Amino acid sequence: MIPAAFDHVAPTSLDEAIDLLARHGPDAKILSGGMSLIPAMKLRLAQPAVVIDVNGIPGLEYLHEEDGVLRIGAMTRESALERSGIVRHGYPILYETAKVIADPLVRNRATIGGNLAHADPANDHPATMLALAATIVVRGPHGTREIAADDFFTGFFSTALAEDEIVLEIRIPAPSATTGSTYLKFERKVGDYAIAAVAVNLQVDASGTCTAARIGLTNVSDVPMRARAAEAALVGQRATASAIEGAARAASAECDPKADLRGPVDYKRDLVRVLAGRAISRAVARAQGSAN
Ligand SMILES: Cc1cc2nc3c(=O)[nH]c(=O)nc-3n(C[C@H](O)[C@H](O)[C@H](O)COP(=O)(O)OP(=O)(O)OC[C@H]3O[C@@H](n4cnc5c(N)ncnc54)[C@H](O)[C@@H]3O)c2cc1C
Repeated sequence: MIPAAFDHVAPTSLDEAIDLLARHGPDAKILSGGMSLIPAMKLRLAQPAVVIDVNGIPGLEYLHEEDGVLRIGAMTRESALERSGIVRHGYPILYETAKVIADPLVRNRATIGGNLAHADPANDHPATMLALAATIVVRGPHGTREIAADDFFTGFFSTALAEDEIVLEIRIPAPSATTGSTYLKFERKVGDYAIAAVAVNLQVDASGTCTAARIGLTNVSDVPMRARAAEAALVGQRATASAIEGAARAASAECDPKADLRGPVDYKRDLVRVLAGRAISRAVARAQGSAN
């Protein structure tokens, strides 16, 4: 449980951090909250020669709405998301995601940028960002670029981030009056990773028809995934109990869980069906103003 030897560098500006990343390439790792990187180093699953600690760079920890977009600095801690009134009242799905991550000690350190960059399919934010159609803003030596959440997660613990790029900001479109969203997670015990979880973000018009839906799934595939068949089963339909059940069954069929210490495949598939049904129902009720 002792990491291999490494150099610790603490840049005080973004340019300096990117320069260090470019200089050390695959030998370097960014350290944000350290809540995933440090355990991985202790287990020697990661052995970076250089750890670039970005905690001393000012201006990466913020959260505000601007022109219909919620902008969250990459170094914003989970505990800040949990405590934010903007998140609590405007983005319930994000509040519900942050508050079920690990425990308060971890949430005081862990960052939203680190959670996404780590791309663990068991992490909670990826499914929520897929459901919210978030954009991940990254910067490297050649400038800044925006990556849609749909294109960000490219494989098992892999992202579209280049080796010399750093996650800067997460942008989330503000919900409309007819939007409802939620995150529902089932875990073995408080503070654990999900056995499965479902993120739902949808819109329902005055006639009760679902006009848009995005559904993300946690820890039931190698790569954080959208439940596209479930989305297709909902959009254009009246949000009735049978339409919701059909969508939940579609999510169960299209996920790809592996048997592990959290349960066998059939159990996880059925859990997705149950969670998806409940999450869609809650999101519909929120869209219609009949639930908090
Ligand atoms: C006991 C425990 C329980 C946990 N339970 C959960 C859980 O239930 N749900 C959940 O979602 N997570 C859980 N986590 C993981 C936690 O949320 C991590 O903190 C998160 O995955 C990584 O965030 P971090 O800021 O700590 O990143 P770090 O550990 O600092 O970094 C993680 C990886 O991302 C890279 N990275 C970090 N920041 C950036 C950046 N800005 N740009 C580019 N690359 C970057 C690092 O180089 C590293 O490879 C748990 C962790 C612990 C220790």
